[in-house]
Amino acid sequence: MFKRSPLVMVPGPTPVARSIQDQLGRETISFNDPRFVKDSQALVNDLRDMWRCDGIAFVVAGSGTMAMEMGISNISSKSDRVLVCSNGHFGDRYIDICSRKGFEMETLKAKWGRSVTVEEIDRKLSEKKFDILVATHVETSTAVELPLRELCNMMREKYPDTLVVIDGVASAGGVEFAMDWGIDIMLTCSQKCFGISPGLGIVWASQRAIEKRQSMPPLTESYVDFEKWIPVMKDTMKYWGTPAVNMVWSLMEAVRIIKEEGLGERYARHRLHAKGMRSALEDLGFKMGAEEGFTCPTLTVVLYPDGFCADDAKFRDTVYDEGAHVAGCLGEFAGKGFRVGHMGNVDAHILVSTVAAIERACMRCGWKIEPGRALGVLQKHLVSGA
Ligand code: PMP
Repeated sequence: MFKRSPLVMVPGPTPVARSIQDQLGRETISFNDPRFVKDSQALVNDLRDMWRCDGIAFVVAGSGTMAMEMGISNISSKSDRVLVCSNGHFGDRYIDICSRKGFEMETLKAKWGRSVTVEEIDRKLSEKKFDILVATHVETSTAVELPLRELCNMMREKYPDTLVVIDGVASAGGVEFAMDWGIDIMLTCSQKCFGISPGLGIVWASQRAIEKRQSMPPLTESYVDFEKWIPVMKDTMKYWGTPAVNMVWSLMEAVRIIKEEGLGERYARHRLHAKGMRSALEDLGFKMGAEEGFTCPTLTVVLYPDGFCADDAKFRDTVYDEGAHVAGCLGEFAGKGFRVGHMGNVDAHILVSTVAAIERACMRCGWKIEPGRALGVLQKHLVSGA
């Protein structure tokens, strides 16, 4: 039977729009061809301005982990004290990255399914001075959202000298943030809310972060050193590491799509889609991985109810066969549920097909449901807009 390739509903990579993919098929030109120099300059300026950054937006080939490393390496030295907050698997990854840096580090870890709270961070920072705070905006292992705005307000009011580093891999481009909230480093990568193939890291650095880097000696790392990239981002005619020409073009197209949709509309769409997806999956009997009040707009993590198909891999393979690729859970949730991404350039068609595929997989795996009921729940959200 003819089958389309399954929808990419893992929490990154996300579905890539045709016009973005087309940029990858363009004839590659040199990074110092004046046409590319002009395009990439306009892109980094756009990224800087759209997210109200008074410093520089860096676009560098690499994955999100590279961006995490670039973010912390450029503003930390051995004499710093750093507080790293973790809401799950990727927060733990930032702890691991930071633990190799040789500075004094302390951690705050949330229970799986919850976020470290602004009050907990405040309490910790009030005990002693920290130079840097690191946190994850949306934790992709649990679908938990950090209250970023509230955190930034508290930091500005009470700890204005502490630099704020945010892993925005699963949020930037889909969830509200602006650098002028008081963020010093925000980072993401191409395959999440920008809806591009994997391969690019984006790091926004405030003027204050740039100044800190400039006050430091050369880094032990060279590829990710801001000092190497600052001249390039200010004048894309300059060279440090060869830019991923076609990926940069696809990011340009992704930014064009974001501008066309409007940032506010895009953020509202992500919240609406998340609500619809959560309600539909709850209707099927799944339990949310994120506790009430902590759920995020870009992905849903669900846990299997008692009596559900005991074979996690079999269930997800069945969803795949039915046309949607969802991801397995990580860490404490591994084997107990699945993760559905709904970030980036996702529309009603994609969401409806995904819930329909999950419904069919439930039936095929012996879970008694009323076909179409969860789909109806999603449809109501999509049409009512609430
Ligand atoms: N942080 C978060 C919140 C993530 O979701 C991911 C990837 N899923 C990463 C960091 C790491 O990104 P990458 O896999 O592109 O290195």
